[in-house]
Amino acid sequence: MSTSRSEPIRAMLADLKMPGALEAIDEILSEVDGGRIGATDAISRLLSAQISLRNNRRLRAAMRSSRLPVVKTLEQFDFSFQPSIKREQIESLHELRFVERKENVVLLGPPGVGKTHLAISLAITAAQRGRRVYFGTLTDLISSLEQAQTAGQLARRLAVLTHPAVLVVDEIGYLPVSRSGAVLFFQLMSRRYERASTILTSNKSFEEWGAVLGDEVMVAALIDRVLHRCHLVNIRGNSYRMREHTAMRKTPEAELEAEIAGRTSRRTRTSAAS
Ligand code: ADP
Ligand code: MG
Repeated sequence: MSTSRSEPIRAMLADLKMPGALEAIDEILSEVDGGRIGATDAISRLLSAQISLRNNRRLRAAMRSSRLPVVKTLEQFDFSFQPSIKREQIESLHELRFVERKENVVLLGPPGVGKTHLAISLAITAAQRGRRVYFGTLTDLISSLEQAQTAGQLARRLAVLTHPAVLVVDEIGYLPVSRSGAVLFFQLMSRRYERASTILTSNKSFEEWGAVLGDEVMVAALIDRVLHRCHLVNIRGNSYRMREHTAMRKTPEAELEAEIAGRTSRRTRTSAAS
């Protein structure tokens, strides 16, 4: 494959600011020269190289602005480990009709069953479709509202947190909330009610939310609103973290076996993806 022949194309791709296509062009042309692919495939591969670079960038930008802590995807989720989860329900939620309808999602269950994983994968899917998302633990969100209140900027902060099409409120129930913090959270949830979707996760049942958030009457009103247009995912099962833990505590041979299995499945995944 002659680089000189690709030079004018490279210059045009650089001019068009298409680094993804630029990186892929030489390999694509050598496939063409080798007679392994035709013109349609070549053009298609060139454009998809650029599109996937753009999507990755968009995802990275969305991860930063939304404060999503890590990337977790639906593909990474092992449904066989968590039989109490209805796969169809989770897949259908990932089609994001709930976002259009401004409905909520509540993920309940003990620690380690995948509540945060699924909340993040929903939020990332929404971000990839160009929706604005924001992620915070209940404690984070309340402390940001408290800080804003102290600075006399509560109205602005409430507006900012009402704006995203998807807000994830993670970890309701792990840490106690002050009475004034709970009031701020109720204000936020009232603003978002029927305006935008909220995904909430909790290790506590609704009956226990009163104790977490203090005021029973306010909590009843909150739950009423949250549940009014809500998809409930109640997970009963074992912690995925503990599973990994037990696997690690096995004999050296089992450990080696698990490692090899991990490598093989990683390789299978990579080749399947390419
Ligand atoms: P929770 O929020 O319910 O406490 P997480 O979603 O944080 O639990 O899950 C704990 C860890 O285990 C995370 O790294 C998550 O990606 C992983 N995990 C949980 N459930 C599954 C699953 N069914 N398949 C794959 N990974 C899982
Ligand atoms: Mg969690």
